[in-house]
Amino acid sequence: MDIIVLRPEAAEERISIIVKKLEGWGLKANISKGTERTIIGVIGDTSVVSEEEEDALKVMEGVENVLRILKPYKLASREFRKDNTEIKVGDQIIGGNKIQVMAGPCAVEGREGLLAVAQKVKDAGANFLRAGAFKPRTSPYSFQGLGEEGLKYLAEAREKTGLLVVTEIMDARDIDVIVKYTDIIQIGARNMQNFRLLLEVGAAKKPVLLKRGLSSTIKEWLMSAEYIMSRGNHQVMFCERGIRTFETATRNTLDLSAVPLLKKLSHLPVVVDPSHGVGKWDMVSPMAKAAVAAGADALMIEVHSNPEEALSDGEQSLRPDYFKQLMSELRPIAAAIGRDI
Ligand code: PEP
Ligand code: MN
Repeated sequence: MDIIVLRPEAAEERISIIVKKLEGWGLKANISKGTERTIIGVIGDTSVVSEEEEDALKVMEGVENVLRILKPYKLASREFRKDNTEIKVGDQIIGGNKIQVMAGPCAVEGREGLLAVAQKVKDAGANFLRAGAFKPRTSPYSFQGLGEEGLKYLAEAREKTGLLVVTEIMDARDIDVIVKYTDIIQIGARNMQNFRLLLEVGAAKKPVLLKRGLSSTIKEWLMSAEYIMSRGNHQVMFCERGIRTFETATRNTLDLSAVPLLKKLSHLPVVVDPSHGVGKWDMVSPMAKAAVAAGADALMIEVHSNPEEALSDGEQSLRPDYFKQLMSELRPIAAAIGRDI
């Protein structure tokens, strides 16, 4: 028994009676209120509930059905929620009809540069500003990010442009400072299976963008989303950013089949990051277009005013004018599949 589907008319007091019953078995209830139905996700070892007890639960007032989910991920599964999850961030929605664009430099490098590029991506039509203040660099001698100073510049950019902010958390100890400044918490590829960190953001009340691990399977990725959701935070979106394969001609292999596959297996929104996916600026645009055609709910694209001077990922960053051109080329593709961008 993993899911309890309630009747549309089930009252709050019935819900709390059911929750108490679950707690009596040492289980936890994860309540999800949909447009038509309320669903209780049961968290914990449900094998402690006998068949008789499960049958008794089925006939309780307010209960429509009791179901088992055979997949190891439950809250993240399509069985748990038939409708697509729409995540509200500020005045924007991720997972709705509008395809959202998150754009900006790999890292916050300084105040003026960030404010300038933020205005440019805003003018081109993006609603989200992406940039890291804590950077997961392969070498300890490379630029590591500006830390809290960088977060302050991001907040100032939001104030000045109205863009919503996406930034990466690398360490559970930074949760309070990240939550204070960002609108979406990014979990980077290298931390997709940092389970302590996942639980920490699961307790936060902010949407989470969960990047795919460098060599992670779809199932492992879904289980990481489950970690976050099991803590009560259901505002999770996936971000495909390419995986390691035998091919080294591109930085990674962008797995666009992950988009329709995740849409089938899960109700959560799917973002595609073609910049890290290919690692070369001139291939970002075609893969961004393919991602939109494949059904992505959002794109994450690295944009830098002067890529040659960038402190990280300059080779895959678009110049603002090129980004603007990409945005206009994406519009007819979105329209062709009945979506806005
Ligand atoms: C980034 O978004 O700049 C980043 C470090 O991405 P990833 O974790 O996908 O490598
Ligand atoms: Mn980057």
